[in-house]
Amino acid sequence: MRGKKWMAVLRSNRLGFVGVVMVALLMVSPLVTASYGQGAFNQSPKTAAEAIDQLVWANRILANEGIFDFLGHISVRNPENSKTFFISRAIAPETVTKSDILEVDLEGNVVTKTQFRPYSERIIHAGILKARPDVNSVIHAHPIPVVTLSVSEVPFRIVSHPGSIFYEGVPFYDEYDFTSPGNTGMLVTTKEEGERVAKTLGKSTAMIMRGHGCNVVGKSVPDTVRTAISLRDNVVILLGAQQFGKVKTVPYEEAKAAAKALGNAERGWNAWVNRVKIAMPDMR
Ligand SMILES: [Zn+2]
Repeated sequence: MRGKKWMAVLRSNRLGFVGVVMVALLMVSPLVTASYGQGAFNQSPKTAAEAIDQLVWANRILANEGIFDFLGHISVRNPENSKTFFISRAIAPETVTKSDILEVDLEGNVVTKTQFRPYSERIIHAGILKARPDVNSVIHAHPIPVVTLSVSEVPFRIVSHPGSIFYEGVPFYDEYDFTSPGNTGMLVTTKEEGERVAKTLGKSTAMIMRGHGCNVVGKSVPDTVRTAISLRDNVVILLGAQQFGKVKTVPYEEAKAAAKALGNAERGWNAWVNRVKIAMPDMR
């Protein structure tokens, strides 16, 4: 009775009723803005929809942070089917939206019924995700400092704290096949070459490809994004320090200890999401 009486009073005062609704909406809004749709940190999406949403954010972040040029791609394993993964269709990463995401199987076949053209180098993602069940996300990128290092005689070395994550080493790929039918050399497009790339990566977190770029892997999208940024930044420092003579590198044991103390990528992810919201109005 009491509730009905209150409702009657509110209905009789239309302004009061609207006011109550507005207050209720204001109370709910922090929950709405904290949803995954706003780029909230999420270490392990449970649904395909969450994974796809996070993939869009990662594309925007990697473009905004200069890891991707107009090329480059990131994939995430489907949380609802470990035999498929999500990756954008072949467009510039800074323009990727949810409707551009395709589902692809571990042989590189596009599962989504679509007329959209996929990235030909999705084969790198398929090869690595097939060979590494521990990996849920792969980034293939061409950061200029990494390509510069790849064509120099300077080997990759750890010279920074965030770079400590590469304490297991960063393998180097230089086995392009441009003579066998279907192979296009520096563009990795065949299943065989995808498998060869995955074999070179082995159990490592990242690998460098001569004159081309790098592949970076991780357990989650935020971790993998941080790893790609750390690789590029470590290479920038290495190339810079090299100009001044002998470089002081981080020894294996020190790097291993530093990597274990790194924690997850939440702080970085939140910062990068914030920068995307400032730089890309459609993501606000
Ligand atoms: Zn490439």
